Amino acid sequence: MNPIHETRLKLRRELEAPPALRKFGSGWISGVLGMMLGLAALGAVIMMRFPGVFVMKESAALVAHPGFRTGMMVLMVLAFLFAMLSLLLRPSKVLGMTGMVAVLIAVTLGGSQAQAVAPDMTPLYFGLDFFVLRLLFTGFLFIPLETIFPHREEQGIFRYEWREDLFYYLVSSMMVQVLTWLSFMPAQTLFAITSWTEFRAWVAALPFAVQFIAIMFLTDLVQYWVHRLFHRIPALWRFHAVHHSAQAMDWIAGARMHFFEILALRSTTVIPMIVLGFSQGAVNAYILVVYLYATFVHSNLGWKFGFLEKLLVTPRFHHWHHGIEKEAIDVNFAVHFPLFDKLFGTHHMPENGRWPEGYGIGGHPVPKGYWQQFLHPFKRKKQS
Ligand SMILES: [Zn+2]
Ligand SMILES: [Zn+2]
Repeated sequence: MNPIHETRLKLRRELEAPPALRKFGSGWISGVLGMMLGLAALGAVIMMRFPGVFVMKESAALVAHPGFRTGMMVLMVLAFLFAMLSLLLRPSKVLGMTGMVAVLIAVTLGGSQAQAVAPDMTPLYFGLDFFVLRLLFTGFLFIPLETIFPHREEQGIFRYEWREDLFYYLVSSMMVQVLTWLSFMPAQTLFAITSWTEFRAWVAALPFAVQFIAIMFLTDLVQYWVHRLFHRIPALWRFHAVHHSAQAMDWIAGARMHFFEILALRSTTVIPMIVLGFSQGAVNAYILVVYLYATFVHSNLGWKFGFLEKLLVTPRFHHWHHGIEKEAIDVNFAVHFPLFDKLFGTHHMPENGRWPEGYGIGGHPVPKGYWQQFLHPFKRKKQS
């Protein structure tokens, strides 16, 4: 067998190891940490070498800051130490070696002293920085939470189809500029050709917190109906079915969404807000919160939220939206406020804290893998 393929298989087997082989002291946690931090360091050095290609305008100052180099140094040292620890503790060396090799390549590429080699030639860039920061930040927040307070205890970090969902995470992060541009450009055009100057001035003058809460309510109302249409109209459902094809729910499962659905959701929510005159700052804060909140509602978090569950969407609420059983079909469309489902008659929250038995779509009609799923909505349905 080809050695690269063999290493990949070994690595995957190690990551998906059964609970008995992942215990504290087995070298698994240090191995995974060493690998993740090593890969993050590798990502950081690529950003420093090619800022014009891989860094968003918004974070260019962050990457150019001297503190970024210090952080990068800390990242490499930690990755090295964790990988070392795993190599000492664990009979299988593939996790530790992956971390080591990642650090080694990062050092070879210049490490914390890396200088930019590619001049900023094109206005186009990929959000590698967004991917790494988003993954590190949400990962370090949600992995411990899901481990300590799991809904499904037997489900590990590297659960069924984790690679597929991680790839969705990568694509949507790398394409952040395209997604933002495609939704902001029509917004600015609409803004320019409409003339509600007075109304907009009034909206823009509202306190930030009021603007933010108003945006959350208005967008959730719009999102509720767009989401419901995606379930109702067969041609749209074929796009949205991709999101519902996830059979394991956790902090990364929400990333599984067809590229065109992200565009549709983003434009139908962001464009009206900009046209109505909400400040750019409030709209950006909303987008940030949506990213975090989507992570939260999909997460494998078994927390009981008490009366809060009536006011805000929680994991149990959204997990019912993904439930495979009959009672879970076409319920709980809201993403932030269950109120909309109560108003429009689609609210479903069984008493005594019950969760759905499983996730996905009955019969599992959606093919597997990113590209197969990308093409899925465009393929003609087989006659059956
Ligand atoms: Zn849905
Ligand atoms: Zn979902």
